[in-house]
Amino acid sequence: MNQLRTFITALLVIGLPHVLAAATPNVIIIFADDLGYGDLGCYGSPVIRTPNLDRMASEGLRFTDFYSAAEVCTPSRAALLTGRLPIRNGMCGDRRVLFANSEGGLPPAEVTIAEALRAKGYATMHIGKWHLGIHEGSRPLDQGFEHSFGLPYSNDMDARLGLPKGSSGSPNPPADGWNVALLRDGEVVEQPAVQTTLTKRYTEEAVKFIRDKKNGPFFLYMPHTFPHVPMFASPAFKGKSRAGIYGDAVEELDWSVGQVMETLRKEDLAENTLVFFTSDNGPWLIMGDQGGSAGLLKDGKGSTWEGGMRVPGIAWMPGRIRPGVTQQLASTMDLLPTALGLAQAELPKTTLDGTDLAPLLFESKSLPSRPYFYYRGDQLFACRVGEWKAHFKTQTGYGQPKADVHEPALLYHLGRDPSEKRDVAADHPDVLSKIQQAVKEHQAGVVPGVPQLK
Ligand code: MG
Repeated sequence: MNQLRTFITALLVIGLPHVLAAATPNVIIIFADDLGYGDLGCYGSPVIRTPNLDRMASEGLRFTDFYSAAEVCTPSRAALLTGRLPIRNGMCGDRRVLFANSEGGLPPAEVTIAEALRAKGYATMHIGKWHLGIHEGSRPLDQGFEHSFGLPYSNDMDARLGLPKGSSGSPNPPADGWNVALLRDGEVVEQPAVQTTLTKRYTEEAVKFIRDKKNGPFFLYMPHTFPHVPMFASPAFKGKSRAGIYGDAVEELDWSVGQVMETLRKEDLAENTLVFFTSDNGPWLIMGDQGGSAGLLKDGKGSTWEGGMRVPGIAWMPGRIRPGVTQQLASTMDLLPTALGLAQAELPKTTLDGTDLAPLLFESKSLPSRPYFYYRGDQLFACRVGEWKAHFKTQTGYGQPKADVHEPALLYHLGRDPSEKRDVAADHPDVLSKIQQAVKEHQAGVVPGVPQLK
């Protein structure tokens, strides 16, 4: 009775549309590109200042064991948007990512977060790098987004003819070195894209979208272009960090996150919007000073060592998420079931590899224990069960032509040995056979999708 009275009072005071809109939470996913586990203040960086992300972490839930679903861009993005391992939809393979001349892309039959939320009346927008295909059926507007603003693929693709090798990793990359276009709703608005102000312009678009759609509900997917090489930053940030242009780019990204959060607060949307911040893969270590840091984790982008796939993960929804740090394992593939759960949308009728994080986020409960599978391309390289991780194959991110095959597998305890330094397989044959069993069961249920990265 009291609840009914409150509801009727609310109707009278603020009007029906607002009450109904408030019942359905908004979702924002901010996805950095090649940002390492050790690159934020709240993850221990002593050299890059990230006050906005640090605040987001202190007001929200920070994950110590959050994973991207792949060790490079394209498969990682496909997995985030579909909640599925890339092996299932063919968004992985020897070529590793989509290139400007690739023929494939995210298959139209795949259901993205945007498609599912749009069916529930959400306004949907993509701002930033896409990298899931440039052909019909795979582009942002084909995959559930009403609007899109950003680059079709990485900012180092489409290099100008004669561009000296190594230019992308330069601390001072040439502004006209890459011909990648800036697109709005699929139409070229600028070519080459002026990269220096990309983060700033993405942020302005995001703020505008939030304000325009404040009566909600809305879904904003914001996969930033940086800190992927070549590294650029606005004049306000260039030369300001201790960590060179890489640090400048991350500090500008942090500013951008702050603008988004400030807008949510001003529009009184903070308590009704789940914001999730993470990265598509680990730091690109071969880029040297322009490559970021995985902190105490081993290796980086391109590898299935922890530094390649364990990334920052922060969930924020003040008043709903109790602030804290969690050591529970979660991944980008959990974001689809979590977002759809908030929207009370039906899950796609397909095999999903993620789980709804709501019990952890909103009730501080434990998630069911589940194995985690580390793929490099279409090959399963490693598996984690609890604190234990077994590597069946290892290969550094870039520069090692063939994988080392381990028979028996290498075994590490990620609690006592997070840097994967001490192989203890010989002491724990029982653990190894348990992991092997989990892999066997997993592989029996995987039907590889038609390869798209050709
Ligand atoms: Mg990346």
